[in-house]
Amino acid sequence: MGFDNGALRTLEDALQGMLARLDCRCEAEPVPLTEALDRVLARDILSPLSVPPFDNAAMDGYAVRLADLAAGAPLKVAGKAFAGQPYEGEWPAGHCIRIMTGAPVPPGTDAVVMQEETQASDNGITFLTSPFPGQNIRRRGEDIHEGASVLGAGTRLTPRELPLLASLGIATVSVRRPLRVAIFSTGDELKPVGTPLGHGDIYDSNRYGVRAMLARMGIACLDLGIIPDDPAALRAAFLQADREADVLITTGGVSVGEADFTKQLLEELGEIGFWKLAIKPGKPFAFGRLSQAWFFGLPGNPVSAMVTFGQLVQPALARLAGIHFQRPLSLTATVTTPLKKSPGRLDFQRGILSQGPNGLEVRSTGSQDSAVFSSLSRANCYIVLEQARGKVAAGETVTVELFGSLLL
Ligand code: AMP
Ligand code: MG
Repeated sequence: MGFDNGALRTLEDALQGMLARLDCRCEAEPVPLTEALDRVLARDILSPLSVPPFDNAAMDGYAVRLADLAAGAPLKVAGKAFAGQPYEGEWPAGHCIRIMTGAPVPPGTDAVVMQEETQASDNGITFLTSPFPGQNIRRRGEDIHEGASVLGAGTRLTPRELPLLASLGIATVSVRRPLRVAIFSTGDELKPVGTPLGHGDIYDSNRYGVRAMLARMGIACLDLGIIPDDPAALRAAFLQADREADVLITTGGVSVGEADFTKQLLEELGEIGFWKLAIKPGKPFAFGRLSQAWFFGLPGNPVSAMVTFGQLVQPALARLAGIHFQRPLSLTATVTTPLKKSPGRLDFQRGILSQGPNGLEVRSTGSQDSAVFSSLSRANCYIVLEQARGKVAAGETVTVELFGSLLL
């Protein structure tokens, strides 16, 4: 396959290199609408009906024919139309029909005059305004035409789509089966939360970040825990993930000091590229496949793991799960603190974006060391500094990428 071991790659090149190899591997299955939250549409949805399905009143008031109003005299009320109870009687000349919001307008209606613009007396209803044709009438198909495409394949179903599908009378949708993702952390120094730390130990935090980001994508995971830097244990974990999941995501063990070890194992089990990415943080990154599962090896440094997940793993998982992926919004802002930067890598510095008196302002969260996780927790955006750019002075314009659904 050619995974270009050891090459220094730009982020874009790495991303395109991965996406070119990945296809959706999740079959379609029908689920009832009540169980469809967070699932991903396998097909486009065409509307089986028009919405609204009939012309109806947008206001409580009176359905009128303009010809009847021409004389300027009050109109008698011929009958009533309620939502769900159309008026089906005769509509003699010189009459109007009392009508409520959502009720079908009787045939021949030119407009609905809202109640507040009328006066009732013994002589009938006096109209205080002259309606224009079509006023306060919602037309059949005004919202959605029968046969129109309403949602595209790859749409993840949220509280915004489910009522739309219900309004079309759709009871069952064809969705992708969930992607199966296994995760583990590697490192002899890692201890699970809830246990005491020995000298030289740290808590495994990456797994909580990776699990949470997967959950935000609507993906549940098979969590294989912490695997020590031991060939037999690693081998067993790789094999289990390969058997039970479509994708394996690990953190740690791909940096220069450790890669040889993991590399040997992975070369035996599949085909993997160990990349040096021209981004900061997040330089080491591994991508490839075991015998059947795709493999993403994230750097161990916590901020690097989060950044590479967002920039590379999220779009790749979206492709595999059949999710239509949209990049988070980018904006430009004036930076109010100087930023350290050397040319050569694309930087994802952690920033705090706010509304200033003259537009958007962004400031640094402080130390940008990839081990300083608090720099990420205080941030609300990445300050994305172009590869060739050097240090940035206060007052310069920078691009910021908002934290999207993954991190909020
Ligand atoms: P590695 O990529 O394994 O060389 O790890 C790089 C740095 O990240 C080291 O300081 C590790 O201790 C740290 N690290 C690795 N995995 C984790 C983890 N799961 N949680 C927190 N820190 C980690
Ligand atoms: Mg390690």
